[in-house]
Amino acid sequence: MTIEQDLYSRSEGCCELCGVSENIHVLEVPPRTGGKVDDCVLICQTCSEQIEYPDRVDVHHWRCLNESMWSQVPAVQVLAWRMLKRLSGESWALDLLDMLYLDEETLEWAEATGESDTDEETVKHVDCNGVVLEAGDTVMLTKDLTVKGAGFTAKRGTAVRGISLVPDNPEHIEGRVNGQQIVILTKFVKKT
Ligand SMILES: [Zn+2]
Repeated sequence: MTIEQDLYSRSEGCCELCGVSENIHVLEVPPRTGGKVDDCVLICQTCSEQIEYPDRVDVHHWRCLNESMWSQVPAVQVLAWRMLKRLSGESWALDLLDMLYLDEETLEWAEATGESDTDEETVKHVDCNGVVLEAGDTVMLTKDLTVKGAGFTAKRGTAVRGISLVPDNPEHIEGRVNGQQIVILTKFVKKT
């Protein structure tokens, strides 16, 4: 059997998200590209268009997830999860999302396209006043800092130009003081 035939028998020829039987086609759920049945869903034009173009989303159309999110097919769960995540401004969508349990592998797949990024803001670095720091900023030290292993003290008031941010630690930035690249705690700097 071809993938299409497999999918038709799995879904009885209906869109696996909203259940209509017109204008349906096979969609491989990104980022998978293996062309396996398990990576694909049968989907209608309306659903696939709204998935692809977030600005065309008709919120009410997605009430269909109320049913389809309980599908046993991981690929369908992934699409349902991503769509609910996108609609999580709606309280009904948030409620459904709370109920939708994905196993570890499926969740990883669902998150792989970064649909959840808007929710969980990436790490923010802020100075002693709560001002957001960006790579390349100049900061001033707000206290004398003993630089371990370098044998000098970076004096309060020292300007550090062109800082870089330590990606996975919001409390750490790096900058050059006395010609040496050192790690500085964000709470001891002030953006200038
Ligand atoms: Zn549909």
